[in-house]
Amino acid sequence: MTDSTRRHTFLKKQAQTNETPYLIEVERAEGIYIWDKSGKRYMDMIAGVAVNNIGHRHPSVITAIKAQVDKHLHVMVYGEFIQDSQLALAENLASILPPNLACSYIVNSGTEANEGALKLAKRYTGRSEIISCKGSYHGSTHGSMSVSGNESKKAPFRPLLPLVKFITFNDPVSLNLITEKTAAVIIEPIQGDAGVRIPQNDFLKALRAKCDQVGCLLIFDEVQTGFGRTGTFFAFEQFGIVPDILTLGKALGGGMPIGAFISSHEIMRSLTHDPILGHITTFGGHPVCCAAANAAIHVLKTEKWISEAEHKGALLENMLVESDEVVEIRRAGLMFAIEMISFDRVKQIVDHCLDNGLIGFWFLSSPNSFRLSPPISITEREIQEAGQIIIEAIKSTKQ
Ligand code: PMP
Repeated sequence: MTDSTRRHTFLKKQAQTNETPYLIEVERAEGIYIWDKSGKRYMDMIAGVAVNNIGHRHPSVITAIKAQVDKHLHVMVYGEFIQDSQLALAENLASILPPNLACSYIVNSGTEANEGALKLAKRYTGRSEIISCKGSYHGSTHGSMSVSGNESKKAPFRPLLPLVKFITFNDPVSLNLITEKTAAVIIEPIQGDAGVRIPQNDFLKALRAKCDQVGCLLIFDEVQTGFGRTGTFFAFEQFGIVPDILTLGKALGGGMPIGAFISSHEIMRSLTHDPILGHITTFGGHPVCCAAANAAIHVLKTEKWISEAEHKGALLENMLVESDEVVEIRRAGLMFAIEMISFDRVKQIVDHCLDNGLIGFWFLSSPNSFRLSPPISITEREIQEAGQIIIEAIKSTKQ
């Protein structure tokens, strides 16, 4: 197939999500790099949007996948048969989480993890109201979209879930919306697609206290912040509180599709009766994805990358902050929002970076900022190189 036929097929026969896709023709990927079919190398400073935290094709992940493929693929819908790689994943997750988060329901994606978490909270509490946060993103299926905070993205798909209300991130007064009618509050402990918003002034502690006061469950969506991205395995570890339900996806699978919602055994039990099969999924906990996830967790436990994420993030921040055109940098570990004066400037810079072999990306709900979320395996030398490409893009596109 020629380049133009491939593009034509992609644009016509593969459904599109927007009018101007990147159109990088991927040949292969390794570490922090992706190569296209012409041999051009890109520094992947997005990591599939916070997926390839340990880099592309980590050898341990590849070995684990191959070993599992030689044993078995799908054998039964989730939750009926005992499968080694699923069992190991449940144990591995429990080993990196507090004791009240020791029971994992393994699913296929971040949005499905959130769907499961919302249903679990409604079933366990017997309440139906959900509180979420303005600017949040929790996924693209109906339930997750209902609790996502970007109205312009939701309006054409109404009616969505009823009884969803929105608090304002970092506004303690808005916590008064949480009442005895509330089943759960779902929140990203660090908001991702809102443009990396960091909780201030013990906001999350006040939120935890309010949930305890009214008897509702607290769901932390760490689909994007999980697995070392912010400098700890999970972002919530930095804020001195623990959720009742944790949702995961993205980096969990080391590059394979998988998600999980995690709670206590007592809370999770409520999905087994009245009605039975309260949440079911055919492919949830696919053995190959679980094998990859086990390898990825092992890599993160043995390498120093998580503890180095803050230092490496600061290195890049210190380079970029030198540019007087940068309005603000919001950052947690290696999760960045670089705010410029306008969306036009963001687009010029991201396009220029792409021409020069560096992949950056947008945010759904923060148009004046561009996003960086490189593999946390990135080296200091690679950070220097990336920083120089970005600074050069800012300078040379300045009007
Ligand atoms: N929650 C958060 C915080 C996310 O960032 C995302 C994806 N960007 C999702 C949920 C949805 O995950 P998925 O795309 O795997 O459904």
